[in-house]
Order: sequence, then C-alpha cells, then structure tokens
Amino acid sequence: MSTWTKSDWRKKPRIQMPEYTDTAALNAVEAQLSSYPLLVFAGEARRLKQQLAAASRGDAFLLQGGDCAEAFNQFNSDSIRDTFKVMLQMAMVLTYGAKVPVIKVGRMAGQFAKPRSAPTETVDGVELPSYRGDIINGLDFTPEARIPNPENMLRAYTQSAATLNLLRAFSTGGFADMNRVHSWTLGFADGGEAAKYSEIANRIQDTIDFMAAAGITANTTHEFSTVDFYTSHESLLLEYEEALTRIDSTSGKWLAGSAHMIWIGDRTRQPDGAHVEFASGVQNPIGLKCGPTTTAEDLKVLMQKLNPENEEGRLTLIARFGAGAVGDHLPRLIQAVKEEGANVLWTCDAMHGNTIKSSTGYKTRPFDSVLREVREFFGVHQSEGTVPGGVHFEMTGQDVTECTGGVRAVSEEDLSDRYHTACDPRLNASQSLELAFLVAEELSA
Ligand code: PEP
Ligand code: MN
Repeated sequence: MSTWTKSDWRKKPRIQMPEYTDTAALNAVEAQLSSYPLLVFAGEARRLKQQLAAASRGDAFLLQGGDCAEAFNQFNSDSIRDTFKVMLQMAMVLTYGAKVPVIKVGRMAGQFAKPRSAPTETVDGVELPSYRGDIINGLDFTPEARIPNPENMLRAYTQSAATLNLLRAFSTGGFADMNRVHSWTLGFADGGEAAKYSEIANRIQDTIDFMAAAGITANTTHEFSTVDFYTSHESLLLEYEEALTRIDSTSGKWLAGSAHMIWIGDRTRQPDGAHVEFASGVQNPIGLKCGPTTTAEDLKVLMQKLNPENEEGRLTLIARFGAGAVGDHLPRLIQAVKEEGANVLWTCDAMHGNTIKSSTGYKTRPFDSVLREVREFFGVHQSEGTVPGGVHFEMTGQDVTECTGGVRAVSEEDLSDRYHTACDPRLNASQSLELAFLVAEELSA
C-alpha cells in the first residue's frame, strides 16, 4: 500500500509557482475546489493509458495539440469547435496514411498555467512580475493584473468544465461521425492541403458507401460515429491540481481529476522537486518534457520515480530539442531508456525548441523548423529501431498568423495581422493540416 498523499509535494522545493499573498483567500479557494466534481473519470484515464501503451508498441499514434495557453477572454464555442475539427481532420489524415488508430488528446480544458523564462518582465523601463497564465494572473501590463489571484482558479475550473462538456458533446453527439468527414473542413481552408484533405475524405466516403451497400451500416457502428477525445495540460499549479485529486473507488488509487493526462514541463522536471513528486503518485498517464538539458542520469531517476512498476502507457517522453539538435540529444536518451529496459512512449513536441523572435518583434516559429524537427525525430527512431509514437503541437483551428511559413506562406510582416496567442505562437489550421500530411508520409514510409 502506497503512503503517498496528494499534499506531499508541499515538502519539496517548488519553482515556477506563484507566491500568493492572501493565504485566507487561497485556502478558501482550495477548500471550494476540493468539494467540486472532478472533470474526468478514472476509467477514462485508464482507457487512455491502454491506448498510449498501444502507441508505444507502434500499434497506435498519439496526436496531442491545442493552445499554448487557454485564456479567459478567448473562451468561445467557435474556437473550441474549430480546434476540435482540425484535430479530427489531422487524425483522419494520419489514420489514413499510417493505418493505425490515432489517439486524440487536446491541450484543452485546463491548459492555463505557464512556466516563464524570467520572473519579471520589463517594458519601457517598467518592471512587473511575468504573466503566468490566466489561472494565476492577468496578461495586462499593470501592477494590479500581475498580482496572483487565487480566485482565478475557480474561473479556470468553470471554463474547463464547460469546454470539456462541449468536447464530450462533439465527440459522441454526431459531430464526429465519419459520415461527416467533409464537414470538418474549415471555411477559410483553400490551400493545397485542403484539396488533399478533400481527396482523402472522398475516398473515406466511398468506403463508407461501399460498406453500406454491402450491408455494414457505418452510422450505427460505434467506431464510426463517435471518437474518444481526451484532455491534457501541464500540471504546474499544484494547489489547483491537489484540490482536484481524489481516490478512485474502483482502484483505490489517486486520480488527478483535472485532466486525463498531465505533463511535467521542461523547467519543472527536477527529480527532487514538487512537480515530479505530485505526478509520481497519481494514476493518470504522465508526460515528461525532455529538452537539451535533460541528462541520461536524470532521465533514469525520473523514469524510476514516475513509473516504478514499468507500466506500459504510463509515461510519455515528449522530446523538444529544436530542429538541428534532435540528433545531438535523442540518441543518448533513447540509450538511457534501453539501458533501463523502461517502457515509454516517445513523442515529438516540435514547437518549444523552435521559438525565435522575428525581425518585426513577434515571438514566432518557422514552419520549416517544426517540420524539420519532426523529420529528425522520425529519422533517429528509424536508426535506433525504436518507435516514434506521436506528435505534440501548439495549434488552433483559428486562421491566426503566429508561425511563419506553410503553403499559404505567412511572412514576418504578416505576423501582426492575426496574432492572438496569450503565450507561444501556434500553428494555424492550414499549417496544422499540412503538417499532418507530412507526418503521415513519414509514418507510411
Ligand atoms: C509548453 O508546453 O507550453 C511548455 C512550456 O513547454 P516546455 O516545458 O517543453 O518548455
Ligand atoms: Mn508553449
């Protein structure tokens, strides 16, 4: 019997978390959240874990994507619907190309807390605390907005619950029915990738029609008419996570009830730190970002702490090295995994190692670098004889101009047109779909 408890992280060094000054308000919020319903159920997290286990063996593929940071003022049903649509389209392209089921996990319904590279930000000589995501403080560059407010957690919970409610409805209420494969196309999609998608959609529709003629009715078959859609976010604000962690009566194990999957960021993966401690005790699938500074020794300790029973599907290693650097780092970490005989799922976050500042002053990511990192990731796995089991993107169904390049080339000058992210630059719908085609090519090669 494990003696772990959900508040053990409080005894460990914590970084990237706010210092709340109003502790009475903090305690009240924690008490309130602790009585609220969990957002996800243990059976769902276990089902995802089984699917991730299949991906680690090459029998499925993980598509994880969504906003860098969800925001209170960008909360609306259209943007949730559009990101869901693009993910369905991408999944269709990947399934069609790779001939394996695609596991869909959104960076949605809880992706609010952000680690930052510096604790403060200076603009025109004025220094203020950094913005840390809407669940913590406000983006406006004013002293008031930047004070961490525990009440924000309640709003983040409510927004997550409503988002998840919509995602559940979309997943099972008919929207995701494969007979509607054409309807997921977004209005503004008119590039080469849209035409290619339409071609695949036609072929899928043909197959469905053929099956119907043969007496197999796709619209009454569960696999054709619904999808599993899971949620995930960085488990960063541990007061929030703890309040939504409960013991699941079926297994008697702890469940982080804020999302199906949670991950540990590249900045908070210290083996003896609070974030690793928290994740180690919950039964959810756990992601661990691996960056250029992840050492083989640390990775070994982390695998042991986070997955002591070497359970398949429990641990996803999310590689984020940057284009041009994958070959320098991934082989040594794959070696460490091999030496331990550890079960892991390897996926590629092709965003976080490729952030640059454009000449026009915007934080951006060149589409070519994203693509190149994905290719390098596949290449290394090919030579190591290991499984490239998924991809992780910051993306949106909205027609934003945040990353440069793509078929409908976004230039550095275009970035100012529709730059809406509260944090890191996202792929837009067209760039996301284009990338899905390229990943599908790699998978079927
Ligand atoms: C993120 O996923 O938004 C993030 C901050 O990533 P990383 O921890 O890999 O830098
Ligand atoms: Mn990010």
